[in-house]
Amino acid sequence: MNIDALIIGGGVIGLACAAESAQRGYATLLVERHESFGQEASSRNSEVIHSGVYYPYGSLKAKLCVAANNHLYKECKKMDVWYKRCGKLIVAVTENEVTELENLYRRGRTNGVEEIELIDQGKVKKIEPHISCRAAIFLPSTGIIDSHELMKAYVHKAKAHGVDIAFQVEYLGVEPKADRYVVCLKEVRGETAKFTTRFVINAAGLFSDRVAASFGIDIDAAGYRLHPNRGHYYAISPSKSRLVSRLVYPLPHRHLVGAGIHITLDRAGQCRLGPDAEYIDATTPEANWYMFDDTRREQFYSAVVQYFPTLEREDLSPGLVGVRAKLKGSNENVRDFIINEESDKGLPGLVNLIGIESPGLTCSAEIAREVFHKLEIYK
Ligand SMILES: Cc1cc2nc3c(=O)[nH]c(=O)nc-3n(C[C@H](O)[C@H](O)[C@H](O)COP(=O)(O)OP(=O)(O)OC[C@H]3O[C@@H](n4cnc5c(N)ncnc54)[C@H](O)[C@@H]3O)c2cc1C
Repeated sequence: MNIDALIIGGGVIGLACAAESAQRGYATLLVERHESFGQEASSRNSEVIHSGVYYPYGSLKAKLCVAANNHLYKECKKMDVWYKRCGKLIVAVTENEVTELENLYRRGRTNGVEEIELIDQGKVKKIEPHISCRAAIFLPSTGIIDSHELMKAYVHKAKAHGVDIAFQVEYLGVEPKADRYVVCLKEVRGETAKFTTRFVINAAGLFSDRVAASFGIDIDAAGYRLHPNRGHYYAISPSKSRLVSRLVYPLPHRHLVGAGIHITLDRAGQCRLGPDAEYIDATTPEANWYMFDDTRREQFYSAVVQYFPTLEREDLSPGLVGVRAKLKGSNENVRDFIINEESDKGLPGLVNLIGIESPGLTCSAEIAREVFHKLEIYK
């Protein structure tokens, strides 16, 4: 069978691409190996609409995030997706951290974040009486979103324009043929099928490096190898959850391994702490990636009690685990999203999306637009 575009992966990025592809009139098939969409990173994250403060100036993460923050609220309104523009504080807990906080503030301004303010502890006390710190960055445009509703809206948009979404179908491999690709797919029952397509969009999340390798790309030479990195969340008791109304973050980790153990809120007003950041050993089987390890409770408590002093150890209960698709290995410098159309590797029409970690949820629609912008050369 012939199609225009095959999308591998039914997380938020693949689904956003499907919606974009359909609107551009391409005959599109999306394949997802699980029985439903968004079973991996897209449903195991903080659900924060980021503003774009953290990322290096000029990076895709910075540019797309600043643009996405402007667009996503409007798109959510149009698509009837739940969100709350609740705002966020990044806190300096000690006097020593204030200089770092000021540097981060300057980076935010340079990146083009318009709504950003440095505030003193008096103002923090006024808006968040239970948060204790020396100073803070206040980001009114940061918010939270129901990620499941966002994905449902992309599915709806894609299907309304004729996209086929096939669950329990796994991408196995490819034979490049002239200006097309013959892709091999396997259904859960074991049956295989071949499709011929002009474009392949690799949105396979934690497995996108393996999909790239299946096209004959040397993923080490290309810098595409992923280093899965796990983050745990603890839920906080409802009585303490009521004491916080904005997201509260400490200063980020060095080299941005993670944003630091922060307080996020969900749609029901329940607070969560997390995620921490831990590289997964390459020998750990995938089935064990999401097992919750409760030995970190003390580490979470002591990180957060510094800026949320009414928190008690007993307020914490184990929550979910998410795994980041990180390009950066431990002790390496921060890496940007990879959104590459691979003509220069002799693979025209293949777009690899690799290392789409945070702020990937925020940027999903921007990333999809970027993908199809790159494919416009084939019009
Ligand atoms: C702990 C954590 C916290 C985060 N917090 C935030 C946040 O607050 N805000 C934000 O903007 N972003 C956040 N992110 C990032 C965001 O969650 C990701 O960028 C986004 O979900 C990535 O989506 P994806 O579609 O690329 O990947 P995924 O959701 O992982 O989807 C990839 C899909 O590909 C499928 N797949 C893989 N291989 C194959 C194959 N061979 N055949 C068929 N299907 C295949 C998988 O089954 C999977 O469903 C966070 C991420 C994590 C892990």
